[in-house]
Amino acid sequence: MNNFSQKIISWYEVSGRKNLPWQVEDPYKIWISEIMLQQTQVKTVMPYFENFTSKYPNIESLAKTSLDDVLSLWSGLGYYSRAKNIHKTAVILEKDFNCSLPDTLEDLMMLPGIGFSTAGAILSLGFKKPGVILDGNVKRVLLRMLGNKSPMNHYKTEKSLKEFAKILLPSAKHKQYSQGLMDLGATICRPKNPECKMCPIVACCSAKEKNIQNEIPVKLNKIEKKEKIIEWVLIKTKTKVLLKRNKESGIWQNLWLLPDKAFLPLKKITNLDPIEEDFPNFVHQLSHKKLLISLKIYTIKNKDRLPINRSLYNWVNISDSVNMGVPKPVREILNKI
Ligand code: SF4
Repeated sequence: MNNFSQKIISWYEVSGRKNLPWQVEDPYKIWISEIMLQQTQVKTVMPYFENFTSKYPNIESLAKTSLDDVLSLWSGLGYYSRAKNIHKTAVILEKDFNCSLPDTLEDLMMLPGIGFSTAGAILSLGFKKPGVILDGNVKRVLLRMLGNKSPMNHYKTEKSLKEFAKILLPSAKHKQYSQGLMDLGATICRPKNPECKMCPIVACCSAKEKNIQNEIPVKLNKIEKKEKIIEWVLIKTKTKVLLKRNKESGIWQNLWLLPDKAFLPLKKITNLDPIEEDFPNFVHQLSHKKLLISLKIYTIKNKDRLPINRSLYNWVNISDSVNMGVPKPVREILNKI
């Protein structure tokens, strides 16, 4: 085994994390956790992971459920295409793989939502086979070790890191190695002020030698987020609220939203003798957009007097609405009413 991987494994055995809920001998749970952990922090993922895997403990149960149910458990975690891909993949695994995850890189990467790094995680953590993980933590460790100031999120950097990471793979203890490398990035080689004194690979770290740890990784300048104005109306009775199924492509496809302001020509609602309330405007940040959200709340006495298109709109119990597949800002609004 090479010296680098030996150091990572020895460090992991003493100091690595061993109590995360997805550290189990189950490729299914490792797959779910890896997808949830994309762009999302461990502490945010934990309760979602526990809920999700207690409701769907295996591929079969996930494949048999509806996308709506999966989205409702995902509600608030963001990046909803991940949930859709998980559901699609479970259906494929049930049909073509006898309700199991395959254990080769090629087969895994054919499945929706599973890329090179996620496949590497499933192979090494789930099947104890060689597999390269290149999440943000691992990339940071490797770039610092190399003293490499290339932009981390550029495809050329990714490509060369992939090749470098393959060379470093050990001949055994793949699970401990992968977990150790991720843990080293998460706990010691942190984005700011890494704890180099505690680091098992300090002797071969170029960034430490040149004292440029905090200059790496370099990120390409982010494009400024576009702003989008959203004007919603919330129409409710004493017990029910009107939600709209979002059939448009783009963000929040297939989730339940509040109706747009345009839904409500005022003369329609003034006939209903509404009580009108304002809700403070707020901002919701997505990775690529800044949403400026305003809301008017209307309480009406008789919902049956409001004409709606039933293929798009649905009256649901206010208490049930927060458990449906709704995005985070809608859930926050529903929680407050
Ligand atoms: S020596 Fe410091 S900068 Fe280098 S890998 Fe270790 S923690 Fe990161």
